[in-house]
Amino acid sequence: MSPPSTTDVLVVGAGPAGIAAATAAAEHGRKVIVLDDNRKPGGQIWRDSSVIASPARSASGSRKQRAIDRLQRSGATLLSGHTVFSASASGQLETLRELATGSFAERFRFEQLILATGARERFLPFPGWTLPGVFGVGGLQALVRAGYSVAGKRIIVAGTGPLLLAVAAHLSHDGANVVAVIEQAALSSLIPFAASLWRQPSKLLQGAQYRASLSSASYRTAAWVAEAIPATDGRSLSAVRITDGKRTWTEPCDLLACGYHLVPNTELAELIGCTLQRGFVQVDEQQRTSVPNVFCAGEPTGIAGLEAALLQGEIAGRACAGVATASLRSRANKEQAFARGLARAFALRPELRQLPQPGTIVCRCEDVAFANLQHPSGWADIKLQTRCGMGPCQARVCGPAVEFLLGSKPSSVRQPLYPVPLHALTATTEHAPEPFKVEPESIHKVEETA
Ligand SMILES: Cc1cc2nc3c(=O)[nH]c(=O)nc-3n(C[C@H](O)[C@H](O)[C@H](O)COP(=O)(O)OP(=O)(O)OC[C@H]3O[C@@H](n4cnc5c(N)ncnc54)[C@H](O)[C@@H]3O)c2cc1C
Repeated sequence: MSPPSTTDVLVVGAGPAGIAAATAAAEHGRKVIVLDDNRKPGGQIWRDSSVIASPARSASGSRKQRAIDRLQRSGATLLSGHTVFSASASGQLETLRELATGSFAERFRFEQLILATGARERFLPFPGWTLPGVFGVGGLQALVRAGYSVAGKRIIVAGTGPLLLAVAAHLSHDGANVVAVIEQAALSSLIPFAASLWRQPSKLLQGAQYRASLSSASYRTAAWVAEAIPATDGRSLSAVRITDGKRTWTEPCDLLACGYHLVPNTELAELIGCTLQRGFVQVDEQQRTSVPNVFCAGEPTGIAGLEAALLQGEIAGRACAGVATASLRSRANKEQAFARGLARAFALRPELRQLPQPGTIVCRCEDVAFANLQHPSGWADIKLQTRCGMGPCQARVCGPAVEFLLGSKPSSVRQPLYPVPLHALTATTEHAPEPFKVEPESIHKVEETA
């Protein structure tokens, strides 16, 4: 491996939180490197929005552009295509880069670390959920943003969380025929949550706009997908079976987008030894974790949305530079209260635990069926006996599902966080942080240097 690159502040994640953190730290004189595993900055919400056309998406696109322009002016260095697979509290971190010429591991040394690793979708298994045509909600949105056409396709969007309406509206704008949005939370949970947003009218307005843009789709609460039904060829989707616990009905469709809100990406924080509280990274008023010189911002500290990510990122970046953060704190606290409201309103109903049948696959990487998970006692036993969670996703998909279904949670996090080819650990690269660029050409330039 090549000698490490050194920096004052290393930021992991170039989503809104990481961009805001890096910008603030660099604007206040710190030398900053930002690492992200994607080819472009922006994280989940600002994922390649080159196809943006609707007013809401144009506004989001220009906000993204402003944030990226400011990051660029700040002097921070962005390194895309770096997956962080290992880190320690002693100030060292390792990344994997997969280039056309091979895979390479690189080392970085830092004085301060800001973790802005975001969140991922939660998937819950039900019969048929592994069929072609069944996607995650954010997953289908990402595919569409990358060019996958949904024009004319009948789509059901199901699961739980605010993402359902947002994605349904985007799919509809892209020409899909969104047949129904199926939300598992009951109206009696959603109404108090909506009422609590009177101090944040922009959030209410956004939800209302999404709903208004879906005039032809039904919005059904207290209902959930019980089964995805294959077509006669067995290789595509023909319909989904939906239930409200009393009644069950079948809705024909071409695609199903189904996701159960988000789970925080806390693995890197756990590896470093940061304390977690109720599943989220515990931080103080300045986004400091329990580990000295390690900060955390955005979704790993609570699923709170874009505004919270931006505010927390800025607080973390300023705190790294020793600059006052008090003026931002009350706004950030308000957004954290929104996160608690979200978690209450979209809490998972127990009936979802009854959905998997004995043959339903729970761990897709290792093909482990629900029946095989019935007897082991605890996560370690589950892993040993079934290989559940030992595949390429390293329990990122099946872990939260097993935790919800059986109450067993992965007990420890080990490096490497992602599979790393052995030869990558010995290959050397002539690494020098590239000047900030955001277009795909920057990646090609990096590739040429490897
Ligand atoms: C699939 C999905 C789709 C979403 N779509 C919407 C939407 O349409 N509208 C909306 O309002 N909100 C959406 N959200 C929520 C939105 O992501 C948050 O509100 C907000 O963007 C969080 O910002 P963040 O910076 O905390 O995290 P993110 O935006 O998730 O950014 C985190 C970044 O860190 C990178 N990263 C993580 N781990 C590593 C690692 N080990 N090595 C290198 N890089 C790493 C990730 O690839 C990502 O680029 C979505 C969330 C998800 C998970």
